[in-house]
Amino acid sequence: MLQSNRKTVKSANVINIQRFSLQDGPGIRSTVFFKGCPLKCMWCSNPESQRTEPQLQFNKVLCDHCMKCVKVCPENAIRSGDKDLIFDFEKKIDWSPCIDACNRLALTMSGKSMTVDELVSELLKDQVFYGEDGGVTFSGGEALLHKDFLIQAARKLKKEGVHLILDTSGYAAEDVVGEVVPYFDEVFFDIKHMDNEKHLYYTGVNNQRILSNLYMISEMKVPVAIRYPMIPGINDSLDNLKAMADFISTLPQYTYLYVLPYHRYGVSKYESVGMTYKLPDLKAPDKNRVDKVKHYFASSGIRVAGLFNKQY
Ligand code: SF4
Ligand code: SF4
Repeated sequence: MLQSNRKTVKSANVINIQRFSLQDGPGIRSTVFFKGCPLKCMWCSNPESQRTEPQLQFNKVLCDHCMKCVKVCPENAIRSGDKDLIFDFEKKIDWSPCIDACNRLALTMSGKSMTVDELVSELLKDQVFYGEDGGVTFSGGEALLHKDFLIQAARKLKKEGVHLILDTSGYAAEDVVGEVVPYFDEVFFDIKHMDNEKHLYYTGVNNQRILSNLYMISEMKVPVAIRYPMIPGINDSLDNLKAMADFISTLPQYTYLYVLPYHRYGVSKYESVGMTYKLPDLKAPDKNRVDKVKHYFASSGIRVAGLFNKQY
């Protein structure tokens, strides 16, 4: 029996609600991307999700260099450079005069504060499309950073019969995981690296808490799907694949292992929020290599999604 959550949370910062998603679980889903993540994965394709607070985002492609934003921007936070605009993304200012001055929509704020009721009412607008299989997936950033908000939203959506998935990096206190997970129908859980030092180097955090949380969830009745972002040269060595297969084999339950090949779709976003991509020369793995990795896991007794079965 779930306990009533009495703590009232006013709002959380949401980057986006992606509607009609077919990639974030079964059926047609609406995916909520929360802002804020305790990890800083070097390959992250959503760098705008890492900071908790809303931040300025600049879409270079839309800019016609009219300089209207430069003229009105407080504290010189946007200046004219030799070729491009120069942004002081770190300045804690009200960016709205600059955004309002831009007729090209090249300037936006990434992240918007929403109340639980606002978010739930947005999500219920899509309920007719969810059907029997679909529903809502809470993702990020890291959804578990917003524990009380998440629980309140999940309780309201559950009352309306909405299927719920939690997509998490797993980096959260054990009691947070234990409190949140029972509200969900399924959990998507990432394993990024089995070597703790490499995990720390590439993501900024240790992996012990993540692995122990995964084990704890797999002991609960909530089905857990494991997602492995396959990053060439970083976490696809035979040693790491073997360590992953050995660990997954010890779990009391999991549905499938999803191999998610590295891609470069998010690279241009780094510049748009004033960040530097730390893996500029990394290439996506070819299909052959991805298939080999999937077959390696399968030959180690792991259930791999998309190999001999359907993958969302
Ligand atoms: S856990 Fe996900 S959102 Fe967070 S930094 Fe890593 S890839 Fe980005
Ligand atoms: S107002 Fe918009 S289009 Fe004009 S320079 Fe600024 S960002 Fe570019």
